[in-house]
Amino acid sequence: MNKIRTNISSARVYFKDVFYFTVISVLLISLAFQFSFQELVIFTLLFVLLDLYLLYRLGFSKHNEMEQIKTIINSIRKNEFSSPDEIKLGKKLVEIEGDIKAMFLRTHNDIINLKKLEQVRTEFLGNVSHELRTPIFAIQGYLETLLNGAIDDDRVNRGFIEKAAHHTENLNNLLNDLIDISMIESGQMRMSFRYFNIREYLEILVQEFRPFAEEKGLELKFGAIKANLQVFGDKKKLRQVMVNLLSNAIKYTEKGYVEVKVEEEGKSAKIIVKDTGFGISEEDQLRIFERFYRVDKDRSRAVGGTGLGLAIVKHIIDAHESKIMVKSKPGEGSEFSFSLKK
Ligand code: ADP
Repeated sequence: MNKIRTNISSARVYFKDVFYFTVISVLLISLAFQFSFQELVIFTLLFVLLDLYLLYRLGFSKHNEMEQIKTIINSIRKNEFSSPDEIKLGKKLVEIEGDIKAMFLRTHNDIINLKKLEQVRTEFLGNVSHELRTPIFAIQGYLETLLNGAIDDDRVNRGFIEKAAHHTENLNNLLNDLIDISMIESGQMRMSFRYFNIREYLEILVQEFRPFAEEKGLELKFGAIKANLQVFGDKKKLRQVMVNLLSNAIKYTEKGYVEVKVEEEGKSAKIIVKDTGFGISEEDQLRIFERFYRVDKDRSRAVGGTGLGLAIVKHIIDAHESKIMVKSKPGEGSEFSFSLKK
């Protein structure tokens, strides 16, 4: 009895339609067949019984469908599905099944992305703490040794102070790069694109870097560039790219040269920074644009590297809708390049 009541009440949305249908049908049929009062009562009763059965069947199927949907929603809530294919509803609910699957997939992907983001964030924080700890421990060590007496030992005091100063510089580089990367990755990098003369622009940069190259006995070549070549980009951000690429080229080259040149390719101009340095293996080339990835940690730290330079370069070049490319062979040198619209 309870089941019948539940099923009929599940069909309550149809009550009004069934009522009107019954009244109109009974009236029309009784008029057509000229029913007596008695016949009318019996016929109406039969019709009502038929209606009740109809409502029961409708309610039964609706109740079943609702139960199926509820079960699926509960299972989604309890995280019991790992793929949308596991979601199955009856034949009559194919359309809703599709909608639920799409909804599940979207939420599922959002959750996976959030988890990944959380993992990246945790890894990033771990890396930052580790990178900060290295120079801070070194500075602390030198200062303590000096305070414990080395300050009066003329053979070591100056050397220790210089080493502490070198680590302070590393710390400063790291903090600057961290500020840049967090600004970029939190979407706060405001780009300001316009056309500018690439030759004049690169010439100034090359002049700035010449003393550093000469200090290491490296030749800093500047390839011939058309005097009026204009390219489209954000000058300030591209300066950061060029500073990182040029300082890497000088940092990781012991002999030979570093060259800056531009090659025109159709509607774009390719800016190239080439060196005859250590080079990078194919395996490492796939990872050098990751944050904190260094081929040789000690070598990078010794030359003031933070492991963030190329990650920043990649972000800025991506924001120019271009791609940073690398060609390199260990022992022969490297070539970093990217294209800008002419
Ligand atoms: P870093 O601050 O350590 O230089 P980058 O992100 O700029 O960090 O570069 C990542 C790594 O890629 C460096 O540690 C270095 O091993 C390698 N690398 C980058 N540029 C060059 C280059 N021109 N020649 C050889 N190795 C390079």
